[in-house]
Amino acid sequence: MTQDDYHFDTLAVRAGQVRTSEGEQSEPIFTTSSYTFASAAQAAARFGGSEAGNIYSRFTNPTVRTFEERLAALEGGERCVATASGMAAILATCLGLLRAGDHVVCAREVFGTTVVLFNNYLAKFGVEVSWVAVNDLVAWEAAVRPNTRLFFAETPSNPLTRLVDIAALAEIAHRHDILLAVDNCFCTPVLQRPLALGADIVIHSATKYIDGQGRCIGGAVVGDGERVGKEVFGVIRTAGPSMSPFNAWVFLKGLETLRLRMQAHCTSAQRLAEWLQQQPGVTQVHYPGLPDHPQHALACRQQSGFGAIVAFEVEGGREAAWRVIDSTRLLSITANLGDAKTTITHPATTTHGRLSEAERASAGIGEGLIRVAVGLEDVADIQADLARGLVVAT
Ligand SMILES: *Cc1c(COP(=O)(O)O)cnc(C)c1O
Repeated sequence: MTQDDYHFDTLAVRAGQVRTSEGEQSEPIFTTSSYTFASAAQAAARFGGSEAGNIYSRFTNPTVRTFEERLAALEGGERCVATASGMAAILATCLGLLRAGDHVVCAREVFGTTVVLFNNYLAKFGVEVSWVAVNDLVAWEAAVRPNTRLFFAETPSNPLTRLVDIAALAEIAHRHDILLAVDNCFCTPVLQRPLALGADIVIHSATKYIDGQGRCIGGAVVGDGERVGKEVFGVIRTAGPSMSPFNAWVFLKGLETLRLRMQAHCTSAQRLAEWLQQQPGVTQVHYPGLPDHPQHALACRQQSGFGAIVAFEVEGGREAAWRVIDSTRLLSITANLGDAKTTITHPATTTHGRLSEAERASAGIGEGLIRVAVGLEDVADIQADLARGLVVAT
């Protein structure tokens, strides 16, 4: 199959599949830790690297490889390396591409655990990080030092859906000989393809939309054959945060329906955001699909859909926000996202609870802020569930 000739939807269903002699229609799960060799000489050749092929599932596994090839095809990358979690993908990228004395510039709005990883752990090994507002290109460039090796961004950001112009950020990065990594968890390759816009590395938490039904933890790094195929892969096979074949199979099946699900998520999120703007007690709605979103034009240019994260602010602070959350009967009160089931979160006391009050204020995370990750239920039922709390709140 020459994959270059196929369109996105075909790749999502077909890329990476290699049938065994059994002629199976669906991809099998290879639950094997090691692989056998035809002879001692073949074993020696595999271990010595003169012959390609499986040795041990910490290194390679056919089910995991099928997932990797399919996601690489969808992101338009040369290579994909699957990992045990989204955090393992970020860690492996840093271990593979950075060394002691290197400097990283990271968007302040990234996933909370990513902040902890940089500040508490990578710092111990001599990697320094500077934090900038994701949408402030001047600040990104001003933070560059002679030893800056990596820019790390998420766009749109969580929960306030702030964007960065990936092409413009890549241009700044490359002018200073810096790599740009983009965590594409919220958009997935269905809505945004960072490599085509100039990014060098794409990071995924497959746990979210790629799974799509809240079952498995996993991640991936996509990029070129040298940095991802050699450096990041080398970390995974040596340090061991590999993806399990079962999880790879779940994610593989998730990719087959990803486009349909993302479109349904986006349609409902747009309707929910527009409806929220009309509700009493709602003072602001953050969603890139709204014409009054400050970066709506960039979102139209850079993404083919606006995603499914809708954040909104209610009058009355924490008490009012908690009442809205506690009045729901359908929505799941959980910090996860990217699920068929809609989730509702109070960022100030959960995902952003570890920040100081001043840090939260500067990040724009108020006490009245609520985040909804819109699922696949009928949007009328989601609205009715929120309306109950909004009436109580005002
Ligand atoms: C969840 C998440 C991660 C971490 O992924 P895990 O699979 O939970 O390790 C990283 N980045 C973003 C944007 C996320 O939402």
